[in-house]
Amino acid sequence: MTTNYMLRLRNICYAYHTLYGETNVLDNISFDVTAGEFVAVVGPSGCGKSTLLSIIAGLLSPEDGTIAVNNPDGSLHYPRVGYMLQHDHLFEWRSIYKNVILGLEISHMLTEERLAYVNQLLADYGLEQFRDKRPSELSGGMKQRAALIRTLALDPQLLLLDEPFSALDYQTRLSVSADICRLIRRTGKTVILITHDLSEAISLADRVIVLSRRPSTVKCELPIHLSLADNSPLAARNAPEFSAYFNKLWEEIRNEETIQ
Ligand code: ADP
Ligand code: MG
Repeated sequence: MTTNYMLRLRNICYAYHTLYGETNVLDNISFDVTAGEFVAVVGPSGCGKSTLLSIIAGLLSPEDGTIAVNNPDGSLHYPRVGYMLQHDHLFEWRSIYKNVILGLEISHMLTEERLAYVNQLLADYGLEQFRDKRPSELSGGMKQRAALIRTLALDPQLLLLDEPFSALDYQTRLSVSADICRLIRRTGKTVILITHDLSEAISLADRVIVLSRRPSTVKCELPIHLSLADNSPLAARNAPEFSAYFNKLWEEIRNEETIQ
Protein backbone atom coordinates (compact mmCIF):
# COMPACT_ATOMS: atom_id res chain seq x y z
CA MET A 1 0.00 0.00 0.00
CA THR A 2 1.57 3.28 -1.06
CA THR A 3 1.26 6.37 1.09
CA ASN A 4 0.87 8.85 -1.73
CA TYR A 5 -1.63 10.98 0.16
CA MET A 6 -1.52 14.05 2.32
CA LEU A 7 -4.85 13.58 3.99
CA ARG A 8 -6.88 10.42 4.30
CA LEU A 9 -10.40 10.60 5.71
CA ARG A 10 -12.04 7.35 6.73
CA ASN A 11 -15.67 6.97 7.75
CA ILE A 12 -16.05 10.44 9.20
CA CYS A 13 -19.37 10.86 11.01
CA TYR A 14 -20.68 14.00 12.65
CA ALA A 15 -23.94 15.18 14.21
CA TYR A 16 -24.82 18.47 15.92
CA HIS A 17 -26.60 18.03 19.23
CA THR A 18 -28.74 20.95 20.33
CA LEU A 19 -31.59 21.57 22.75
CA TYR A 20 -33.96 20.93 19.86
CA GLY A 21 -32.52 17.58 18.91
CA GLU A 22 -29.86 15.98 16.79
CA THR A 23 -28.86 16.89 13.24
CA ASN A 24 -26.98 14.11 11.50
CA VAL A 25 -24.67 15.86 9.09
CA LEU A 26 -21.87 13.57 7.90
CA ASP A 27 -22.36 9.86 7.36
CA ASN A 28 -19.22 7.80 6.72
CA ILE A 29 -17.31 10.29 4.59
CA SER A 30 -14.11 8.76 3.15
CA PHE A 31 -11.68 10.17 0.62
CA ASP A 32 -7.96 10.85 0.11
CA VAL A 33 -6.19 14.02 -0.92
CA THR A 34 -2.76 13.77 -2.55
CA ALA A 35 -0.04 16.32 -1.73
CA GLY A 36 -0.25 19.22 -4.19
CA GLU A 37 -3.70 18.22 -5.38
CA PHE A 38 -6.54 20.74 -5.88
CA VAL A 39 -9.82 19.12 -4.86
CA ALA A 40 -13.25 20.72 -5.14
CA VAL A 41 -16.16 19.59 -2.96
CA VAL A 42 -19.69 20.29 -4.17
CA GLY A 43 -23.02 19.40 -2.59
CA PRO A 44 -26.41 20.86 -1.76
CA SER A 45 -26.69 23.77 0.62
CA GLY A 46 -26.77 22.59 4.25
CA CYS A 47 -25.32 19.14 3.48
CA GLY A 48 -22.31 19.63 5.76
CA LYS A 49 -19.52 21.04 3.58
CA SER A 50 -18.44 23.69 6.10
CA THR A 51 -18.71 21.15 8.90
CA LEU A 52 -16.41 18.83 6.96
CA LEU A 53 -13.83 21.62 6.50
CA SER A 54 -13.97 22.42 10.22
CA ILE A 55 -13.23 18.78 10.95
CA ILE A 56 -10.33 18.74 8.47
CA ALA A 57 -9.02 21.97 10.06
CA GLY A 58 -9.17 20.34 13.50
CA LEU A 59 -11.76 22.85 14.79
CA LEU A 60 -14.32 20.07 15.34
CA SER A 61 -13.63 16.45 16.28
CA PRO A 62 -15.40 13.75 14.29
CA GLU A 63 -17.78 11.59 16.33
CA ASP A 64 -16.51 8.58 14.47
CA GLY A 65 -13.86 7.88 11.84
CA THR A 66 -10.23 8.83 11.39
CA ILE A 67 -8.10 11.45 9.70
CA ALA A 68 -4.62 10.28 8.74
CA VAL A 69 -1.95 12.71 7.67
CA ASN A 70 1.20 12.12 5.66
CA ASN A 71 3.03 15.34 4.89
CA PRO A 72 5.23 15.63 1.78
CA ASP A 73 8.31 15.42 4.01
CA GLY A 74 7.05 12.12 5.40
CA SER A 75 6.11 13.53 8.81
CA LEU A 76 2.80 12.57 10.36
CA HIS A 77 2.09 15.74 12.32
CA TYR A 78 -1.14 17.57 11.56
CA PRO A 79 -0.64 19.92 8.60
CA ARG A 80 -0.66 23.67 9.13
CA VAL A 81 -3.99 24.76 7.76
CA GLY A 82 -4.97 28.07 6.13
CA TYR A 83 -8.62 29.06 5.78
CA MET A 84 -10.25 31.42 3.28
CA LEU A 85 -13.92 32.18 3.80
CA GLN A 86 -16.80 33.69 1.87
CA HIS A 87 -15.95 37.22 2.92
CA ASP A 88 -12.43 38.54 2.82
CA HIS A 89 -12.70 39.60 6.50
CA LEU A 90 -10.23 42.41 6.11
CA PHE A 91 -10.46 44.96 8.92
CA GLU A 92 -11.28 48.47 7.74
CA TRP A 93 -9.42 50.05 10.68
CA ARG A 94 -6.14 48.48 9.61
CA SER A 95 -4.08 49.20 6.51
CA ILE A 96 -3.65 46.44 3.93
CA TYR A 97 -0.17 45.74 5.30
CA LYS A 98 -1.46 45.53 8.88
CA ASN A 99 -4.22 43.22 7.65
CA VAL A 100 -1.93 40.80 5.84
CA ILE A 101 0.39 40.45 8.83
CA LEU A 102 -2.48 39.99 11.29
CA GLY A 103 -2.22 36.19 11.38
CA LEU A 104 1.51 36.42 12.02
CA GLU A 105 0.93 38.96 14.77
CA ILE A 106 -1.67 36.79 16.52
CA SER A 107 0.52 33.70 16.23
CA HIS A 108 3.64 35.54 17.46
CA MET A 109 5.40 34.75 14.19
CA LEU A 110 6.51 38.23 13.13
CA THR A 111 9.96 37.03 12.16
CA GLU A 112 12.19 38.71 9.60
CA GLU A 113 11.83 35.73 7.30
CA ARG A 114 8.01 35.73 7.42
CA LEU A 115 7.84 39.50 6.88
CA ALA A 116 10.19 39.23 3.92
CA TYR A 117 7.87 36.58 2.44
CA VAL A 118 4.84 38.86 2.95
CA ASN A 119 6.65 41.74 1.25
CA GLN A 120 7.56 39.45 -1.62
CA LEU A 121 3.92 38.38 -2.04
CA LEU A 122 2.72 42.01 -1.91
CA ALA A 123 5.16 42.80 -4.73
CA ASP A 124 4.34 39.66 -6.75
CA TYR A 125 0.59 40.24 -6.46
CA GLY A 126 0.77 43.92 -7.43
CA LEU A 127 -0.29 45.20 -4.02
CA GLU A 128 2.86 47.04 -2.98
CA GLN A 129 1.46 50.47 -3.75
CA PHE A 130 -1.71 49.63 -1.78
CA ARG A 131 0.04 48.59 1.44
CA ASP A 132 -0.95 51.75 3.33
CA LYS A 133 -4.51 51.89 1.92
CA ARG A 134 -7.65 50.78 3.73
CA PRO A 135 -9.56 47.72 2.41
CA SER A 136 -12.46 49.87 1.10
CA GLU A 137 -10.03 51.61 -1.26
CA LEU A 138 -9.31 48.33 -3.10
CA SER A 139 -11.31 46.45 -5.75
CA GLY A 140 -12.94 43.11 -4.89
CA GLY A 141 -10.14 41.28 -6.71
CA MET A 142 -7.40 43.16 -4.86
CA LYS A 143 -9.06 42.47 -1.52
CA GLN A 144 -9.14 38.74 -2.31
CA ARG A 145 -5.45 38.90 -3.17
CA ALA A 146 -4.80 40.57 0.18
CA ALA A 147 -6.85 37.88 1.94
CA LEU A 148 -4.78 35.24 0.13
CA ILE A 149 -1.51 36.84 1.26
CA ARG A 150 -2.76 36.91 4.86
CA THR A 151 -3.52 33.18 4.56
CA LEU A 152 -0.21 32.31 2.85
CA ALA A 153 1.82 34.37 5.34
CA LEU A 154 1.57 31.55 7.87
CA ASP A 155 2.91 29.10 5.26
CA PRO A 156 0.04 26.60 5.50
CA GLN A 157 0.53 23.15 3.98
CA LEU A 158 -3.17 22.73 3.37
CA LEU A 159 -5.47 25.48 2.10
CA LEU A 160 -9.16 25.23 2.89
CA LEU A 161 -11.37 27.52 0.81
CA ASP A 162 -15.00 27.72 1.93
CA GLU A 163 -16.94 29.29 -0.96
CA PRO A 164 -14.43 32.16 -1.04
CA PHE A 165 -15.88 33.79 -4.16
CA SER A 166 -19.60 33.49 -3.49
CA ALA A 167 -19.98 37.04 -2.15
CA LEU A 168 -18.77 38.46 -5.49
CA ASP A 169 -21.05 39.26 -8.42
CA TYR A 170 -20.86 36.85 -11.35
CA GLN A 171 -18.50 38.78 -13.65
CA THR A 172 -16.08 39.66 -10.84
CA ARG A 173 -16.25 36.12 -9.58
CA LEU A 174 -15.15 34.65 -12.91
CA SER A 175 -11.99 36.70 -13.08
CA VAL A 176 -11.20 36.76 -9.33
CA SER A 177 -11.59 33.00 -8.91
CA ALA A 178 -9.36 32.41 -11.96
CA ASP A 179 -6.79 34.89 -10.63
CA ILE A 180 -6.70 33.59 -7.05
CA CYS A 181 -6.56 29.96 -8.15
CA ARG A 182 -3.73 30.67 -10.59
CA LEU A 183 -1.77 32.27 -7.73
CA ILE A 184 -2.53 29.34 -5.43
CA ARG A 185 -1.46 26.83 -8.11
CA ARG A 186 1.89 28.61 -8.31
CA THR A 187 2.50 27.89 -4.61
CA GLY A 188 2.05 24.14 -5.18
CA LYS A 189 -0.05 23.89 -1.99
CA THR A 190 -2.66 21.22 -1.40
CA VAL A 191 -6.14 22.75 -1.69
CA ILE A 192 -9.69 21.78 -0.76
CA LEU A 193 -12.21 24.19 -2.31
CA ILE A 194 -15.87 24.18 -1.44
CA THR A 195 -18.14 25.68 -4.05
CA HIS A 196 -21.76 25.72 -5.17
CA ASP A 197 -20.72 26.39 -8.72
CA LEU A 198 -20.18 23.27 -10.82
CA SER A 199 -18.43 25.21 -13.61
CA GLU A 200 -16.06 26.73 -11.08
CA ALA A 201 -15.29 23.28 -9.67
CA ILE A 202 -14.55 21.80 -13.13
CA SER A 203 -12.46 24.75 -14.30
CA LEU A 204 -10.31 24.97 -11.15
CA ALA A 205 -9.92 21.50 -9.66
CA ASP A 206 -8.01 18.30 -10.42
CA ARG A 207 -10.88 16.29 -8.94
CA VAL A 208 -14.44 17.02 -7.87
CA ILE A 209 -16.06 15.24 -4.93
CA VAL A 210 -19.86 15.29 -4.86
CA LEU A 211 -21.64 15.04 -1.51
CA SER A 212 -25.25 13.92 -1.18
CA ARG A 213 -27.87 15.77 0.80
CA ARG A 214 -27.72 15.50 4.60
CA PRO A 215 -26.72 13.21 6.26
CA SER A 216 -24.15 13.40 3.54
CA THR A 217 -22.13 10.66 1.97
CA VAL A 218 -19.65 10.82 -0.91
CA LYS A 219 -21.87 10.36 -3.96
CA CYS A 220 -19.09 10.27 -6.51
CA GLU A 221 -15.57 11.45 -7.27
CA LEU A 222 -14.78 12.80 -10.72
CA PRO A 223 -11.16 13.33 -11.82
CA ILE A 224 -10.96 16.26 -14.26
CA HIS A 225 -8.73 16.09 -17.33
CA LEU A 226 -9.18 18.94 -19.76
CA SER A 227 -7.21 19.17 -22.99
CA LEU A 228 -6.05 22.75 -23.01
CA ALA A 229 -3.50 24.73 -24.91
CA ASP A 230 -3.52 27.38 -22.22
CA ASN A 231 -3.92 26.28 -18.63
CA SER A 232 -6.08 29.15 -17.39
CA PRO A 233 -9.37 28.47 -15.58
CA LEU A 234 -11.22 30.75 -18.00
CA ALA A 235 -9.94 28.79 -21.00
CA ALA A 236 -10.96 25.58 -19.19
CA ARG A 237 -14.59 26.51 -19.68
CA ASN A 238 -14.11 26.18 -23.45
CA ALA A 239 -12.34 22.81 -23.29
CA PRO A 240 -14.07 20.12 -25.40
CA GLU A 241 -14.61 17.86 -22.34
CA PHE A 242 -16.13 20.61 -20.19
CA SER A 243 -19.80 20.06 -21.00
CA ALA A 244 -19.57 16.28 -20.51
CA TYR A 245 -18.16 16.86 -17.00
CA PHE A 246 -20.81 19.46 -16.29
CA ASN A 247 -23.62 17.12 -17.36
CA LYS A 248 -22.22 14.27 -15.29
CA LEU A 249 -21.99 16.45 -12.14
CA TRP A 250 -25.40 17.97 -12.77
CA GLU A 251 -26.85 14.48 -13.10
CA GLU A 252 -25.29 13.48 -9.76
CA ILE A 253 -26.34 16.58 -7.86
CA ARG A 254 -29.76 17.27 -9.43
CA ASN A 255 -31.61 14.74 -7.29
CA GLU A 256 -29.85 15.96 -4.14
CA GLU A 257 -30.93 19.59 -4.51
CA THR A 258 -34.57 18.99 -3.58
CA ILE A 259 -35.86 20.60 -0.38
CA GLN A 260 -34.69 18.68 2.67
P1 ADP B 1 -23.03 23.58 4.22
O1 ADP B 1 -21.72 24.26 4.45
O2 ADP B 1 -22.96 22.39 3.31
O3 ADP B 1 -24.10 24.54 3.74
P2 ADP B 1 -23.00 23.23 7.12
O4 ADP B 1 -21.85 22.34 7.39
O5 ADP B 1 -22.85 24.67 7.40
O6 ADP B 1 -23.55 23.00 5.62
O7 ADP B 1 -24.24 22.73 7.99
C1 ADP B 1 -24.77 21.41 7.88
C2 ADP B 1 -26.03 21.28 8.71
O8 ADP B 1 -25.71 21.40 10.09
C3 ADP B 1 -27.07 22.35 8.43
O9 ADP B 1 -28.35 21.72 8.47
C4 ADP B 1 -26.92 23.32 9.55
O10 ADP B 1 -28.16 23.93 9.86
C5 ADP B 1 -26.45 22.44 10.70
N1 ADP B 1 -25.53 23.17 11.59
C6 ADP B 1 -24.41 23.83 11.22
N2 ADP B 1 -23.77 24.37 12.30
C7 ADP B 1 -24.52 24.01 13.37
C8 ADP B 1 -24.40 24.24 14.79
N3 ADP B 1 -23.35 24.92 15.30
N4 ADP B 1 -25.35 23.73 15.60
C9 ADP B 1 -26.39 23.04 15.09
N5 ADP B 1 -26.57 22.78 13.79
C10 ADP B 1 -25.66 23.25 12.93
MG1 MG C 1 -21.10 26.25 4.20
